[in-house]
Amino acid sequence: MRRIPRSARLIGALFVCLALGPGCGGPKRLPPVSTFPALPPAPGPVLPALLGVGLAENQDRIVCASGGPSLVIPVPERDEGVRLPEAGQTLVCTRRGDLVVWEAGGRSGIAGAVRLQPVDPGDLPGWDQRLYRGDLLVIPSPGGGGLTLVNNLDLESYLQGVVPWEIGRHGESRLAALEAQAVAARTYTVSHLGERRARGFDLFASVMDQVYKGATDEDPLCNQAIAGTRGLILTHGGRPVAAYYSACCGGVTSQIEEVWPKAAEPYLVSHPDAAGHDPEPFCAGYRHYAWSETWPAAQLEATLQETLPAYLEYLLGGGRARWAGPSFTPRQGGVDPDRPGRLIDLEILNRTRSGRVARLAIRCEAGTYHVRGDRVRWVLTPPSGSPAILRSALFDLELERRDGVLQTVIARGRGYGHGIGMCQAGALTMAERGYSSAGILAHYYPGAELVRLEPGGSP
Ligand SMILES: [Zn+2]
Repeated sequence: MRRIPRSARLIGALFVCLALGPGCGGPKRLPPVSTFPALPPAPGPVLPALLGVGLAENQDRIVCASGGPSLVIPVPERDEGVRLPEAGQTLVCTRRGDLVVWEAGGRSGIAGAVRLQPVDPGDLPGWDQRLYRGDLLVIPSPGGGGLTLVNNLDLESYLQGVVPWEIGRHGESRLAALEAQAVAARTYTVSHLGERRARGFDLFASVMDQVYKGATDEDPLCNQAIAGTRGLILTHGGRPVAAYYSACCGGVTSQIEEVWPKAAEPYLVSHPDAAGHDPEPFCAGYRHYAWSETWPAAQLEATLQETLPAYLEYLLGGGRARWAGPSFTPRQGGVDPDRPGRLIDLEILNRTRSGRVARLAIRCEAGTYHVRGDRVRWVLTPPSGSPAILRSALFDLELERRDGVLQTVIARGRGYGHGIGMCQAGALTMAERGYSSAGILAHYYPGAELVRLEPGGSP
């Protein structure tokens, strides 16, 4: 294992900055998200001591419960707060102006933010039927009218609430895959710190980042995998990698730039998900390895009336101009691209290196829409509504016509998810076949280096 002093220090510094909030270059009104004072200067590489997970935003009212003797601490700490002597006592918060109005233990107050902190860290506080390690912080939603609930906790405890939800619960024979997932999730976390800073936390507790459900329903084997890989992350060129992963690659992983309008990364290249020249992919046994969806033409036409205008709107977002070329070619002047009208034809014009759909032309009454990259999944949404988007962009189309009129559209595809980085289904098979977590990670993030960040900044 090699250390990465410089980037790790940067991460540590970034985290301290996040933890301190005001006075560290952050938005002035943002209350601190840390339970702990400033960290001492790190003697070497450090892991972030604490991170903030956004559990809810823009709430009218937030009710948290103590899991044992706890402190309710207004922030900044001008007020001494309240001690809740037992489990099941509530902290109720609402918003007034830019402040939080709180009630707990028969007292009330108003503060910039308020924190519920157990005296014994084992007495986990609760919110919305779930328990959470660390503490809970209620802040005014930055830029919104309600309240945001942030769970502050250490990185390893956070992963305990992530790994079972991201890869599932499995038997001992698959431990190496759980370890690989722990490293990927830890790396994702470290590399994304700071991106949600304007919201008052580090990460969403959802698929927007990683699914996190607190300490309720942790999995012993996942916890073992997290402990066994403690501090390990993947780096490339001394920086944490963008450790994307998805459920099933369909037999061939994708390059990041073929899926999203992002820069290429040397460790996120397309390759067969198989050992050497073995024709059978590791993920071939996965239940969604092969799939199909069938739309009556009228139903797809109705879907496209909503999804094509939504796609055009999506393209207006930042950074998407990288996908050069027309997104809509009108059949004649004066048509409204937000009203596609009758569906006439669909044609896959280009495929990516991994065989995924790169450009799909959808010809409608109004004109031709050119749908690019992974967004085809949001345009051709399944007729049943489940899953909400098409499983992958690795598919073929079959069109059935009668008397020249489109009757049925069938997509036959493979895989589930974007296919970048680790294929979770493949990783589980690799583990069963005896690969180590390092071997699994080397397969899915070729050229990335496994390094251990030293724990640091403990309170
Ligand atoms: Zn795969």
